[in-house]
Amino acid sequence: MRKLKVDKAYINGQWIAGADTFDVVDPATGSVVEKVANLRIAEVHSAIEAAHTAWSSFKASDVMQRAALLETWYRLILEHKQELAEIITLESGKPLTESLGEVDYGASFVLWFAEESKRSYGETIPGPRASNKILTIKQGIGVVAAITPWNFPLAMVTRKVAPAIAAGCTVVLRPASQTPLTALALAVLAERAGWPVGVLNVVTGKDSSGMGHELSTNPLIRKLSFTGSTSVGKILMKQAADNVKKISLELGGNAPFIVFEDADIEAAVEGAIYAKFRNSGQTCVAVNRFLVQDSIFDQFSQQLTDAVNRLKVGHGMDGDVQIGPLINQNGLDKVQEHVTDAVGKGARILTGGKVIEGLFYAPTVLADVSADTLIAKEETFGPVVSLFRFKTEEEAIQMANNTEFGLASYFYSNDVHRCWRVAEALEAGIVGVNEGRISFAGAPFGGIKESGVGREGSRYGLDEYMELKYINFGRGK
Ligand code: NAP
Repeated sequence: MRKLKVDKAYINGQWIAGADTFDVVDPATGSVVEKVANLRIAEVHSAIEAAHTAWSSFKASDVMQRAALLETWYRLILEHKQELAEIITLESGKPLTESLGEVDYGASFVLWFAEESKRSYGETIPGPRASNKILTIKQGIGVVAAITPWNFPLAMVTRKVAPAIAAGCTVVLRPASQTPLTALALAVLAERAGWPVGVLNVVTGKDSSGMGHELSTNPLIRKLSFTGSTSVGKILMKQAADNVKKISLELGGNAPFIVFEDADIEAAVEGAIYAKFRNSGQTCVAVNRFLVQDSIFDQFSQQLTDAVNRLKVGHGMDGDVQIGPLINQNGLDKVQEHVTDAVGKGARILTGGKVIEGLFYAPTVLADVSADTLIAKEETFGPVVSLFRFKTEEEAIQMANNTEFGLASYFYSNDVHRCWRVAEALEAGIVGVNEGRISFAGAPFGGIKESGVGREGSRYGLDEYMELKYINFGRGK
């Protein structure tokens, strides 16, 4: 039986070596984990054609058959949880406990959409005349291109592939070149689960813009689903416009986390640690700005700093490590630039503020950060807490919404009236109220403003891969 850790791409049921390879590196040590097939655009093209051919029969498959394919995949993913988690940690650097959690989280989308596939209901609508009946049906859209990032190498794949398969679509997946091994391991499990040839294709390579161009412009592809930065999302959106593809974009954020003076501070600190430091701060829903009411600023910042000082940094495979390395030198440079800029504009370092070694950055807390800093405006994507002060609820909402992003937001308060007011006023696709753990397969994950288009997970996540058709039945005379 083929091992889970493979170095070849997967097209039309064949494992493809490619003309040359690229290195996948462990960010914690800098050592090469694997050399993976570096495909050319012609091979991406052939993957699209294979997916298109497979779609002609797969679209007519029974819904119960598609549910069964997903259920078997789900079972195999969980059976190989440890092995998959180790691959995630090796290529992304995240602590093993988080990788194990990612396998559960990623698998939950597969089970969710296996079940949801059976519920893509249509409806009947009264027609304009007594002789007419209108009914709606949903049909899989066709070949899907999925482009995924490195920060959740497994969950971002299942969140796209599972609803696509549930809808009767076929997929060409391009994982980030930093983390292709998890996606390939998922393809091995799909093969073992008996998925028909060509239904899932995984193309690996270094040429992200060339491959992205092919995937967003090839007319055989009817849907593009992308998770990554807003800047790349905009490029893909423009390219996909040429043949008016349906798109889903899960992009960057600049999440605020507001702590009001009536909050349970202990709960807020616990929520803050989770919402900020998961994957060393490299998640799209990671808090970027902590807005803390003046009267409790010192108390909250002290308790949070104490909790940050207890975080254990190290190689993800080492026991109880909570903070791993940043993904690469660019990621580290950005964190350093943001901290230097904030300190230069008057911020105080309460802890951290330096590189430990290699790509490891010390968990950091900055107090009294000003509104004109890079941190206030851009996603830092690292283990840095930045604390801003506010005086009134109106000021907090104004500060929270003062960004072109709108993915996640969080706030802590024990005043139920304030909870409703603030939840409605925050410009974000997701609001955590007294809650730092916001993701769940049954909830519609996604952003507004420049954080994206469309939703993943939930029943809405299936609609992203389907077209709605209405059929107007007349009596014929
Ligand atoms: P990125 O540079 O946009 O990369 C994401 C993916 O796009 C990777 O597969 C990358 O491949 C590929 N890519 C890069 N340039 C491309 C191009 N010109 N055309 C097509 N594909 C291209 O993002 P990142 O910095 O790696 O990932 C972190 C970002 O993702 C953050 O902004 C984060 O907030 C966002 N994110 C959002 C969500 C969400 O659900 N909203 C979830 C997770 C992450 P290579 O890596 O091989 O270049």
